[in-house]
Amino acid sequence: MNASKNIIRSLIVFHTGDEKNFSLEHRFFNVISYVGGVIGVLTILINVILRESLLLTLTTAMVAAICWLVFYLSRFRKKFKLGKWILTFFIFAFFNYIFFINNGSRGPVLYLYMAFFLLILIVWQGGSRWFFIGLFYVNVITLLIIEMKFPGSTKPYPDETTRLLDVYLSYFMYIALLGIILMFVLNNYIREKIRAERSDNLKSAFLANMSHEIRTPMNAILGFTQLLNKDISKEKRETYIRIINENSQGLLRLIEDIIDVSKIEAGELEIKEKVCNLDDVMHRLESNFNRILEGQPEKNIEIRVETAGDGLFVKTDCFRLQQVLTNLMHNAVKYTSTGKIITGYSPGNKEIRFFVKDTGIGIREEYMDVIFDRFRKIETEPSARMQPGTGIGLAISKNLVNLLGGEIGVHSTYGEGSEFFFTIPYKPAAAHMVRNEDILPVNGVSDLDLSGRKILIAEDERTNFFFLKKALEYTGVNIIRARNGKEAVDLVRENTEIDLVLMDILMPEMDGYEATGLIKKLRPRLPVIAQTALAMEGDKEKVLEAGCDAYVSKPVRIRELLQIIRKYLDAPGERPG
Ligand code: ADP
Repeated sequence: MNASKNIIRSLIVFHTGDEKNFSLEHRFFNVISYVGGVIGVLTILINVILRESLLLTLTTAMVAAICWLVFYLSRFRKKFKLGKWILTFFIFAFFNYIFFINNGSRGPVLYLYMAFFLLILIVWQGGSRWFFIGLFYVNVITLLIIEMKFPGSTKPYPDETTRLLDVYLSYFMYIALLGIILMFVLNNYIREKIRAERSDNLKSAFLANMSHEIRTPMNAILGFTQLLNKDISKEKRETYIRIINENSQGLLRLIEDIIDVSKIEAGELEIKEKVCNLDDVMHRLESNFNRILEGQPEKNIEIRVETAGDGLFVKTDCFRLQQVLTNLMHNAVKYTSTGKIITGYSPGNKEIRFFVKDTGIGIREEYMDVIFDRFRKIETEPSARMQPGTGIGLAISKNLVNLLGGEIGVHSTYGEGSEFFFTIPYKPAAAHMVRNEDILPVNGVSDLDLSGRKILIAEDERTNFFFLKKALEYTGVNIIRARNGKEAVDLVRENTEIDLVLMDILMPEMDGYEATGLIKKLRPRLPVIAQTALAMEGDKEKVLEAGCDAYVSKPVRIRELLQIIRKYLDAPGERPG
């Protein structure tokens, strides 16, 4: 039963095109031109059986040939637009001709016109559709007038029986054509409706769940912040700070995931390939997750990494690759309480296969496909229901892997564990191609000495400014503040001893883009580092285009900020003593 369904399905896809590469109108058009071709051939047979004139049979053969040609162009060469024009033009021409050689309205040509009208409705849009509908009516009314005024202008059938047979046979064929088209439209409509409803339900569940996902870490952050006020021991303080930090990181990850989903939906997520040392990626992953597990003493999990050993350099988007592996590792930790998590990669000829294997709760067979859908959490599982999550991690991972040029999949035995795996194309690269800025600086920044230097911080938010001031305090740097872009420009003009500007982007009166442009006119060599909460693709480029030398995104990571400041101030380095 399933096999025959699959055969029918692949036959339909072969004739109409798959949903991924063909729009709905395009697929309709493929169906229509295909069925038009089939009907053309049947009509030729009828003509032969009814011994119609050679002229009529040849004309019908011509229509059938054009339908097949258009079907080929549209379905296999993807020339939908060209196909539309050819079919519309020739049908207008041929149908009028057939009308006269096939006994006008007493023959079956008006049925043909009905099918033609449907074609216009489906494949033309906007102004062109109205134009062709108008032309169609003018055409048919003209035929009516000609038939009334010149009754002898259409060629009659040799006898009434032939006429009746031709009309009825054609009638059945056009009913079949209309039926096929209608069924196609209805099936697609129903499928789209079900998909929209399901997506809507999932979205509602996601939004409801989101409130929970935000409140839970917020509860921990606000709760432990209050406890920090109390007179508590050093150990307790450290524990509370760790909890606040972990929950803030979780919240940030959630926000980044949501931004990624919207970028993916808007088609804005871009892959930026550079040379990447896979062993570095795997070892960074290992140490990050070992640290995460230290904070979860209730779990008894060993993490193991299997790599090529002495480093494999490939061209890919390291950041996105790391993001996919991190997502899979987070899930592995989330759904495993004891045992092992093994992650690694194995290079093949054309692709590299990565995997994350766990000894966790596993996934039932029936959920294996849907877990990669957006917003899909498997809430029926009691053990999964307890787990936090929004159901977007795997959907993002799947999209990222596809953008990287690979495929993602899962093997799992319920109750025993799962193995998520994905591939990326293998594009070997040489180690020396790793750019210097891609390697994290090995120097620490805890001893950065900036005494005698002056930094201007342009920041309208008091708390943000206070944070930056406190983060830079130990370096001994002299800080001045501007509350908007205009003040920043004025301060740079007045204070020639400013060494660097930290520039917020969204500020009142004058934004960071404009202020940076003016500052660069005054002092082209003064480093300006943007710090902004903008996160969409292109924002970074916009900031750099405005003249900023570098960019840190909010929430600002102190270490990253200090490293950039060190780079631009070229600080002499170590603090004495
Ligand atoms: P979530 O935020 O809910 O983890 P994901 O998209 O990452 O969302 O995962 C979707 C679902 O897939 C999860 O709700 C869970 O049921 C299942 N899942 C993902 N990874 C694992 C795993 N390693 N073991 C068992 N189940 C998993």
